[in-house]
Amino acid sequence: MNRLAEVAAVAALSASTLACSAGMNSHESRPRPSEWSVTVPPAEAKIPTTSTTRVGESYLKLLQSNATLNVIYVPTTETTSPEDATLFEKEIAKADQLIQQEPLFMLQTASHVQEATHGRYNPAAITVSITPTLDTGKDCLDSKDIPQSKMIRKHAEPQTDKNALNVIIVKQLGCDDVMVGGYSNEGLIPILTSRAFKDLGRTSMHELGHSAGLLHANLATCPEPNLPLAKDCKSAEADDPNSIMGYSDDKGSEDFSLPEMHRLGLLDVTEVIKNPDSGEYTLSDIEADRGEAKVLLLDDTYFSWERDLQAPRDAKCTEVTDESSPYPPDMILTTSKKRADGTYRTLRCTAVNKRFATSSLQVRRDLGVKGMGLIMRPDRAPDDGEPELSNGEVINDTVVYESATVKVTYLGQNENNQARVRVENLKKSR
Ligand SMILES: [Zn+2]
Repeated sequence: MNRLAEVAAVAALSASTLACSAGMNSHESRPRPSEWSVTVPPAEAKIPTTSTTRVGESYLKLLQSNATLNVIYVPTTETTSPEDATLFEKEIAKADQLIQQEPLFMLQTASHVQEATHGRYNPAAITVSITPTLDTGKDCLDSKDIPQSKMIRKHAEPQTDKNALNVIIVKQLGCDDVMVGGYSNEGLIPILTSRAFKDLGRTSMHELGHSAGLLHANLATCPEPNLPLAKDCKSAEADDPNSIMGYSDDKGSEDFSLPEMHRLGLLDVTEVIKNPDSGEYTLSDIEADRGEAKVLLLDDTYFSWERDLQAPRDAKCTEVTDESSPYPPDMILTTSKKRADGTYRTLRCTAVNKRFATSSLQVRRDLGVKGMGLIMRPDRAPDDGEPELSNGEVINDTVVYESATVKVTYLGQNENNQARVRVENLKKSR
């Protein structure tokens, strides 16, 4: 059974490359003060696994060294267009929480920053500074207006700390889209709109991801039947549901995917299996000890065992013919589907990932200028549309990658909640 077609469901979301919707941060803040402390963590030796020098390199080093997060607030003379006034008033009302460093707001921000990096970036402190009032030349922030961006960064320069991760938040909304949370580009200090007050921690980390060189996280569609090379894949913009670099706000994207963690230099060398010999390997999730492998990397393709944010929807459905069931009631969703003739049939759906795992093996590929593409999650049912009729089995022994030289098979999950994968080096065995 070939399930690769399942990855084909894509939703094209419009967004310019670097102007970032705040929609991804639509979750209500969930403060977890007890999980955060301002103390600097022990100086743990972090060995970056990325070695290429690039513009965003300094950002990687700052993340790895738990640098201070320095938030620079820029009040403006211009406010906003009358039609956006209501939203604007609502957003800037929260500015006081930042300016006064209201404890709950600061804790929420810190908590969300930590969550975004799975606890790997713990800012030594979050500092707040305010610039003099600025005339941005417009009544909104225009990500395409380079002179305006330059002026804002120049204006904030005295408050900029070169030993910190700086973000600038301006008292204005976006021009193209009032929902835009901010924009940035590799090597540049993010500019956030007042919309970012909604979730300063996550919006900052999304934009700092850009500053460090990450692009939006896409859902890639690749031709059938074999898993192709990256050049054969197309990708919808920013629709990887499991990444903070995506826009799938209804699915709870709050953190970086493991491949992105690797790109940010936040995984240790021991956590990455790179172009290995033939053999069986286990991949642990991000919560496991740092000595355990988290990512299998074959050239530009990443395999990782990650929390599956759509697990509750991961249902296998059968038509109800018999009321008895081998599954406990909380795993069963009974649903009705309308037939073409207008009548209904009743389906009983079992959340397979909920039962067997809350994680799935996820395959992502570096699609170059298109960002990081999520290629597949082989043990999953389709995300959208008609639930597939099957008996609810977990799909093990699925070939998840095949090239001229390497074949990777997902063998299933072991008793330690790790993914088992088999790598076959075809070149060597022939
Ligand atoms: Zn973005």
